[in-house]
Amino acid sequence: MHVDDQAAAKQAEARFKDIRSQKILPEGLIALVEHVLPLSRRARAEANITLPEREAMASDEAIFAGSPLLLRQDFPRDMDQALALAPPLFDILADSGDEAAKAADVLRQAVDSGALDLRAAFLASISGDDAPLAFWRGKLPGSPRALDFIATTALAPGLAAAAEMLAPSLPANHPHEHGHCPLCGSMPYLTLLREKEGKRFGVCSFCGYEYRVRRIACAYCDEADQKKLKLFRVAEYPGVRVDVCETCGLYVKTLDYRELDRGYLPPLDDMATVALDILAQQQGFKRPTLSAWGF
Ligand SMILES: [Zn+2]
Ligand SMILES: [Zn+2]
Repeated sequence: MHVDDQAAAKQAEARFKDIRSQKILPEGLIALVEHVLPLSRRARAEANITLPEREAMASDEAIFAGSPLLLRQDFPRDMDQALALAPPLFDILADSGDEAAKAADVLRQAVDSGALDLRAAFLASISGDDAPLAFWRGKLPGSPRALDFIATTALAPGLAAAAEMLAPSLPANHPHEHGHCPLCGSMPYLTLLREKEGKRFGVCSFCGYEYRVRRIACAYCDEADQKKLKLFRVAEYPGVRVDVCETCGLYVKTLDYRELDRGYLPPLDDMATVALDILAQQQGFKRPTLSAWGF
């Protein structure tokens, strides 16, 4: 194991301990993510991505006008890798609880019988067509997000590799007055404060890219009127705040990595701060995005 991998594994271990001690999320779900992490990390290093020609991407002018570099349906992906990851992901899902095991069985049988075309489901997930995934949510009431989890987790390593390769194609000083991802146009699932000045970054819910957003503006509707933007913190969760917007009714958690002196793991910190999601939702605000694992 690489030294950085070892450090990351140690930090992740500490985070899982923290998440378990909160007794909010079910053990099956925590174990699921714990087993997926090393698989995802390996897949990220092995993803095979071919970029389209620069001419097939949005022009600099279009990007300055707010267009993403590529639409989601055109975003480079490693479909072979995603399909190869499905069997081990089904196995991990099956080990994470009775309802998840039932869902894994139903989905595996559907793949074998041809009732579920995984490639088509993954393509629908990429293009944002919810219908095929919604169909299986309806069929799996005990574990409705099982196929979302498989699709999101299988595709994520390739999409993240693609995002890293695409980032240099963005024009220098591209604008950041919109909250959406400049590479793919998707919404952030978290925002972060980094660097000494506390620059604010969005973390893309689709490709994982981290990009500058305005410090004081709603990441979802671009509201910048301070009277419409509120934030709250909870003493038990230092370095985390919840940004709520009264204009669109949505909220996003903001992790302050200048204050959080414990490594950099946004997807796990999202899980470790689920109590703040509960609080925000009790106050009537909604979260428009899922976790990094599709549930
Ligand atoms: Zn993106
Ligand atoms: Zn808003």
